[in-house]
Amino acid sequence: MSAFFQETVLSVHHWNDTLFSFTTTRNPTLRFKTGQFVMIGLEVNGRPLMRAYSVVSAHYEDHLEFYSIKVPDGPLTSRLQHLQVGDTLLVSKKPTGSLILDNLKPGKNLYLLSTGTGLAPFMSVVRDPEFYDAFEKIVLTHGVRWKSELGYFEHITDELPDHEHFGELVKNQLIYYPTVTREEFATQGRLTDLLESGKLCDDIGLPQLNPETDRVMICGSPSMLKDLVEILEKRGFVEGTSHAPGDYVIERAFVEK
Ligand SMILES: Cc1cc2nc3c(=O)[nH]c(=O)nc-3n(C[C@H](O)[C@H](O)[C@H](O)COP(=O)(O)OP(=O)(O)OC[C@H]3O[C@@H](n4cnc5c(N)ncnc54)[C@H](O)[C@@H]3O)c2cc1C
Repeated sequence: MSAFFQETVLSVHHWNDTLFSFTTTRNPTLRFKTGQFVMIGLEVNGRPLMRAYSVVSAHYEDHLEFYSIKVPDGPLTSRLQHLQVGDTLLVSKKPTGSLILDNLKPGKNLYLLSTGTGLAPFMSVVRDPEFYDAFEKIVLTHGVRWKSELGYFEHITDELPDHEHFGELVKNQLIYYPTVTREEFATQGRLTDLLESGKLCDDIGLPQLNPETDRVMICGSPSMLKDLVEILEKRGFVEGTSHAPGDYVIERAFVEK
């Protein structure tokens, strides 16, 4: 039996020259937890060419959604960016990953700290009512270089608050905090600096990060991960695992080669 489901591409959306999203059919037997990733790919020269991708869609939706970079000359994404409706996408049958609710201790506020395509797993989180039950406030941050890299901006600001089932939860509990480093924007600067200086929490009107009350999920570039973990551990946050839930969990948005 093949290790992969064969799904059909249902829609493709290009955000800019470097980022795109797409949806596919979902095999009804594929179960995943909010925040997990799967391997997806294409058959190239008769062999599967697979890469890890966080699932953007919510666990209860009947389609799958992914948010992707276009790496120039990237083995997979140089092909994937040309996906068309009706094409076949391979999807692994075993989702995995550390950005799950079970790996965190109960807390008051949940911070979702992302850069670039690290936003992907958190789009699934902010559409999962279970997370709104578990936390009083959910703070979704997204650090990018250029405004055009703020994928899902309008979806988060305009569509989610009007969602027929959980719009009220979003209005009352979700705080969206996008930040841009290389051009003018309402909030500018690196997430690490904004957290370390205390500006991020001041801006959103919450107390400074504290392991007594706050839980953190991080998904971004390897360098951002390293810097943020340093900041959190200095403040006494402990990493959560499947064996021992903790105060924060991390996932790399990609691996440097
Ligand atoms: C746990 C996990 C989850 C991931 N989830 C996603 C996701 O949801 N969306 C996504 O686009 N990618 C994601 N990735 C990265 C993805 O697996 C591939 O690396 C990416 O699709 C590029 O594939 P490629 O074959 O074209 O190039 P690769 O040979 O895989 O990568 C070439 C180089 O491109 C750079 N790069 C790769 N991916 C990214 C990225 N996302 N952002 C910035 N630079 C990058 C790195 O420097 C890398 O060394 C994830 C990786 C991991 C480990």
